[in-house]
Amino acid sequence: MIEKQRITVAKGDGIGPEIMDATLEILLAAGANIEMDEIEIGEKVYLAGNTAGISKDSWDIIRKNKVFLKAPITTPQGGGYKSLNVTTRKFLGLYSNVRPCMSMHPFVETKHPVMDIVIVRENEEDLYAGIEHQQTDEVVQCLKLISRPGCEKIVRYAFEYAKQYGRKKVTCFTKDNIMKQTDGLFHKVFDEIAIEYPEIENEHWIVDIGAAKMADTPEAFDVIVMPNLYGDILSDVAAQIAGSVGLAGSANIGEECAMFEAIHGSAPRRAGQNLANPSGLLQGAVMMLNHIGQTDVAEKIQNAWLKTIEDGVHTYDVYKEGVSKEKVGTKEFAKAVINNLGKIPATLKQVNYAKGQALNLPKYKRKKPQVKHLVGVDIFVHCADILPDELAEKLAQLNTDKVELSMITNRGIKVYPDGFPETFCTDHWRCRFKPVGETTITKQQIIGLLQKAAEVNIDAIKTENLYTFDGVQAYSLGQGQ
Ligand code: NAD
Repeated sequence: MIEKQRITVAKGDGIGPEIMDATLEILLAAGANIEMDEIEIGEKVYLAGNTAGISKDSWDIIRKNKVFLKAPITTPQGGGYKSLNVTTRKFLGLYSNVRPCMSMHPFVETKHPVMDIVIVRENEEDLYAGIEHQQTDEVVQCLKLISRPGCEKIVRYAFEYAKQYGRKKVTCFTKDNIMKQTDGLFHKVFDEIAIEYPEIENEHWIVDIGAAKMADTPEAFDVIVMPNLYGDILSDVAAQIAGSVGLAGSANIGEECAMFEAIHGSAPRRAGQNLANPSGLLQGAVMMLNHIGQTDVAEKIQNAWLKTIEDGVHTYDVYKEGVSKEKVGTKEFAKAVINNLGKIPATLKQVNYAKGQALNLPKYKRKKPQVKHLVGVDIFVHCADILPDELAEKLAQLNTDKVELSMITNRGIKVYPDGFPETFCTDHWRCRFKPVGETTITKQQIIGLLQKAAEVNIDAIKTENLYTFDGVQAYSLGQGQ
């Protein structure tokens, strides 16, 4: 007898308990070899005064079992409550968000009958690091952090996923024509890793036109990997155009732990009425079974579920006169899936989760440090009601025989030297100082610049060092420079 896999289950809020009960009933009827520890998360915990929505004991259980099946929760209105989803992803290092979006034509209405894509979204970094600052009266900033380990892990995950599930192509979406450093790194790592998978086609699209193409012709894509923000937006677009927000599940995968859920929320208005569609959570559970190696059970459930949808046995959210045959409640839908266990769909493509091996996801190995040279500094200055040439004149007071002002930009656009009077300027200026007669500067020289700025009443609000790494310039030029 193979040992049972212990998983953590949270029934959540709103429709959560009903759809979880239905899902677990199907899992157990299909022979899933699991044992469960149930924890309480969400509204009750929040309202009891725990702003995280989860207790320490529950964290311990999640971390011990490593596999977490979670129903949607309600985040109470009003400030102060932290999103449990975001916290869980970050605390457990769930770097990969996987969301299959498949149309169920002709059984569920969609404009895209042959769509079958999987969005693999980086889950931990990008603009979601939540590092924001107001810097001047007029300007706030959000730091976009992209790391090489982050890129390597998510891109490798996308290719390994494609290999495991017999997918033919991995597409990368970035905006590296504009963000040459951050998105540029994501794209570069994608190209590096793609070479290791010659049997899988790879391509890169700029995210704007890629997103337009995906919304218009989703059948052109298979697996799409992207940084956090684009993935957040486009995974919802993909689920929506597949016609099935209520039918989609998602997996959040980390090196140690993983969390599986439906993509929808707790639908409080539908709670307790045996109305909700359990399919989204069931899809999450199928991913969970694949993740823990119970691929035969996952396959049996998925085929039974496809057959049920195909039979026209639909909950109210997908029920359509003329297409559907029978409108059922949550419990009846679960019973119909259980009755179909062992059967396969006739029209929809049956799944075949061949006994896959565990995905090959090596731990990140830190690279040899590069040779780094400090070649200048950007001093950001808060100053209102001043023309760029006037500001340049003020800043000239900081010049020494070793470092001098070379450029000023405002919101990235070069305004000095040779700016256009038409360029609108805020009170937030990037003032670039470069070495004179040398190629590098020292930290002492930067301190000297800041010291002098304080003396002459120039409001320096922050600095960014300009580096080359292995001789390659590693900072952006001013737009128009
Ligand atoms: P929602 O997804 O709960 O509901 C949107 C619409 O879809 C509603 O009309 C609802 O009735 C319907 N719907 C959703 N799931 C359904 C299902 N399984 N079967 C049938 N109909 C379904 O989104 P919302 O109303 O914006 O949010 C409600 C609550 O859920 C909020 O408190 C929000 O914070 C929370 N939420 C939680 C999660 C999560 O836990 N993962 C995700 C999103 C929203």
